[in-house]
Amino acid sequence: MFCVWVSLLLIFTGCSSDEIGEVKQKKDLTTPQYSALAEQADSYLSKIIDKYKNEIDTIYNYEEDMYVSQRSKSENIDRTKKNIDIEMAFPSQRKTEVLFKTGESIDVCDTFCIYQGDIVLSDREIDILAGVSSIEEEGIQLRGALLNYSKYKWKDGIIRYQFQPNFTLRAEVREATQEWKRVCPFLTFVELPDNDKSKVDKILFFHGKGSYSNLGRQGGTQKISLDREYATAGTAMHEIGHALGMIHEHCRYLQDVALTIYWDNIKRKRRKNYRKVKGHILIGFITEPMGSPLDFNSVMMYPSYSSDAIDPYKPVMLKKDGEEIIAQRDYVSSGDASTIQLFYKGSIFF
Ligand SMILES: [Zn+2]
Repeated sequence: MFCVWVSLLLIFTGCSSDEIGEVKQKKDLTTPQYSALAEQADSYLSKIIDKYKNEIDTIYNYEEDMYVSQRSKSENIDRTKKNIDIEMAFPSQRKTEVLFKTGESIDVCDTFCIYQGDIVLSDREIDILAGVSSIEEEGIQLRGALLNYSKYKWKDGIIRYQFQPNFTLRAEVREATQEWKRVCPFLTFVELPDNDKSKVDKILFFHGKGSYSNLGRQGGTQKISLDREYATAGTAMHEIGHALGMIHEHCRYLQDVALTIYWDNIKRKRRKNYRKVKGHILIGFITEPMGSPLDFNSVMMYPSYSSDAIDPYKPVMLKKDGEEIIAQRDYVSSGDASTIQLFYKGSIFF
């Protein structure tokens, strides 16, 4: 499988010698200890590379970091370290970043494609990012970073959810749903019993590897993973934001006018977390109105100082006026509420 994998990389992507070098270092793939799960992951990666061979620009293989610290246990933040973690799917694992010619990229890990670090993509969404299909549906102009497509909306604003039986962060999730309800009273969160088998649209909270969510309503059961050790109510607020349709605030189209991004201080493997959403995505997938400012208090915002930095004492981004972004995870901001309000009710309030 390893040989097939390398061959595919060479054939389909024309990657540079550096990138091939990185692939060759993955010797663990050939050891007997490497599990069936890893083979399944290789097979999935091969499929993705084959499917998008005409759309792929480059491929980059890397090992994801472990969590270094955790902002969400936030009272204990060591500000002197200035090394704050953000939500991440599959920490400490091998990942492959696939950069499409459209300028968008995804991370392939296990049998998932991840966008912006913690968003699990559906096949259709990958098609859109790769540029092989676009959404034609007419869209309203939204104020925030949000999916502009009615299929992603939870019907009547009702979000049903349940917990996997061994899930330990129930109080945190309930707190997060109450916070969303506080700022968006038109949303209804309904907790289903663990053993409920009804075939309704719902979110299943579970402990996967790291924290992640789908984007918007997917139909049927969709999962939100909350890291068993590190996730908090703030993490749950953030991941629920994704499930409601929101992307990361700093990736919105207006980032150029709101932020200075210090690309030289961002680890190669984390740069994709800061790419602005592209035009073709804005047309059909995610959109926003002209002139709507970024909300630095958004629960979907990233901080100036994080584990994405090469030098953690220097920022990865700052507000245009040079001020630090804290990226709070204590509440859902009025800007977040306005975005969801517009999506569900067609009007803005502050
Ligand atoms: Zn996120």
